[in-house]
Amino acid sequence: MNDIDTVKTDVLIIGGGPSGLATAIHLADKLKQKGEQKRILLVEKGRSIGSHILSGAVIKPAVFKELLPGTDLSEIPFNAKVTTDKTVFLTEKRSITIPFHIPYMNNIGNYTASLGEICRYLAGKAEEKGVEIYTGFAVDEILYKDGKVIGAKTKDTGIDHNGNKLENFQPGTRVEAKITIFAEGTRGSLAKMLIKKLNLAKDRNEQVYSLGCKELWSVPEGTIAPGEVYHTMGYPLQNDEFGGGFIYGLKDNRVAVGLVVGLDYKDPSFDVHDAFQIWKTTPFVSRFLKGGKFLEYGAKTLPEGGYYSIPKLFIDNALIVGDSAGLVAMPALKGIHLAIKSGMLAAETAADALINNDTSENFLKKYEKLIETSFIRDELYPVRNFRQAFAKGLIAGGMQFGTQLITGGAGFFGRLKSHPDYLTTVKLSELKKKPFKERFKGKLEFDKILTFDKSTDVYHSGVHHDEQQVVHLHINNQGNFNAVNIEQYGASEVFFCSSEVYELHTNKAGRKEIRIHAENCMHCKTCDIKSPGDGITWVVPNGGNGPDFQNM
Ligand SMILES: Cc1cc2nc3c(=O)[nH]c(=O)nc-3n(C[C@H](O)[C@H](O)[C@H](O)COP(=O)(O)OP(=O)(O)OC[C@H]3O[C@@H](n4cnc5c(N)ncnc54)[C@H](O)[C@@H]3O)c2cc1C
Repeated sequence: MNDIDTVKTDVLIIGGGPSGLATAIHLADKLKQKGEQKRILLVEKGRSIGSHILSGAVIKPAVFKELLPGTDLSEIPFNAKVTTDKTVFLTEKRSITIPFHIPYMNNIGNYTASLGEICRYLAGKAEEKGVEIYTGFAVDEILYKDGKVIGAKTKDTGIDHNGNKLENFQPGTRVEAKITIFAEGTRGSLAKMLIKKLNLAKDRNEQVYSLGCKELWSVPEGTIAPGEVYHTMGYPLQNDEFGGGFIYGLKDNRVAVGLVVGLDYKDPSFDVHDAFQIWKTTPFVSRFLKGGKFLEYGAKTLPEGGYYSIPKLFIDNALIVGDSAGLVAMPALKGIHLAIKSGMLAAETAADALINNDTSENFLKKYEKLIETSFIRDELYPVRNFRQAFAKGLIAGGMQFGTQLITGGAGFFGRLKSHPDYLTTVKLSELKKKPFKERFKGKLEFDKILTFDKSTDVYHSGVHHDEQQVVHLHINNQGNFNAVNIEQYGASEVFFCSSEVYELHTNKAGRKEIRIHAENCMHCKTCDIKSPGDGITWVVPNGGNGPDFQNM
């Protein structure tokens, strides 16, 4: 892709996560079966496949048999088969194991894994089948002709902070494709533009998100067996904060721990990273980490609006898959198998479209029909009101969810609406409970043995951004930001950011302002979702920038 201004391909896939890689593999297989030779090109912004991939992960394996027919599951680099699967309710000092499986949360038969490792394996399979994979290229523009998508363009590089071209300026590459697949994962920056421009979320619920902070640890032998899985509810979250923790036992005496919190919380000073650290100090969690060594940190959002938040997924010449399509089964905290299945269904649609030489919306609508007759609908439709119910708190949500279980998902109220997460944050003056810092007074000094401040955690994510580029976090309205976001919401960006990008600073004139340390950005996208007044837009930085996850 070096000096070529325009590259032509049959299919362009943007994003090398499970959804994009499954699209590539299945498309190559389908075309081969039909004796067709087509060019399939996949572009990934991470410096290598897996470096921007973060998940729990406990994976439902069956879909891998569909994706890789004839492959024994033992060949796939899952980590361990789940042997123990418990849900535990935490208070600050105590834990109570719930004596039954909460509906949809049974993990027996599933596997623990590093999704990054799985993606590296899938990328190898895709390349064996002739897919061209280009890593370290950020795609920042959708190409349109006569209002229809005709491909996308990678980001120009060699630009200074103010947008001026430098000597090493390198224009991005135009990639023109008969079909473009948007597989950018959670809050895809191109998918977001596409959905807005073509009004693809018309009549759908607003998408809502969670943020998950995760650490990988090496622990003394015998601490946790591979395949031991624990989910926690309760402390340090309160009734009006949706979420919970996970502890997944891995091979080689490793353990993945994380806390996932719904971004519809109210307190503008709530801090998921710090809540995660406090969660680790509970006796139940800390015993899994005692004497261990912290290896890696990362954070990412996940869409959890469910069935009613899925946008229209097909348009002329383009399809949307995976998390960008909002395909996560939230009660189970699972999206990987749905990402893979959606990629496969997009691939089947794309293969037929190419063979029939018809990539129009009318032809590609078959994709949505395939989704509607697949296990994707079977898993999402019965829980279509799940997340909305919990917007009113754990107790009210639990009761509503009970009625939904009896009524096949409808509950007593039919379709429940959702609101963008930034609208649920209240002003400091309207907060009716203790702000986060007061709630956990005395608990926010991190010891750097069990608990870590954001800087230390960020250091353990391998994050890097080129200095010479326009800051990729745009404040949408500077005047409004100072008056509203800083003055009224107390600069909630400082707290919700998973990686210390936003700093509240007082300038020489005594005015408070936000400093943006874009170099720390974990690409979790929380600021694009949670900044009050829709205050911040996240765009892709230079290709190859961002975290360098090894095994997340
Ligand atoms: C904390 C956490 C825990 C989770 N636990 C589980 C679990 O236990 N089990 C489970 O099944 N699911 C789990 N999930 C959900 C699961 O990880 C996702 O559903 C799944 O990864 C979605 O796959 P995807 O391919 O759509 O997106 P992703 O995995 O996010 O991959 C998208 C890729 O696209 C790339 N990309 C994005 N934008 C661009 C661009 N403009 N240009 C080029 N490249 C781009 C990204 O760098 C990334 O590599 C979890 C998620 C989180 C955050």
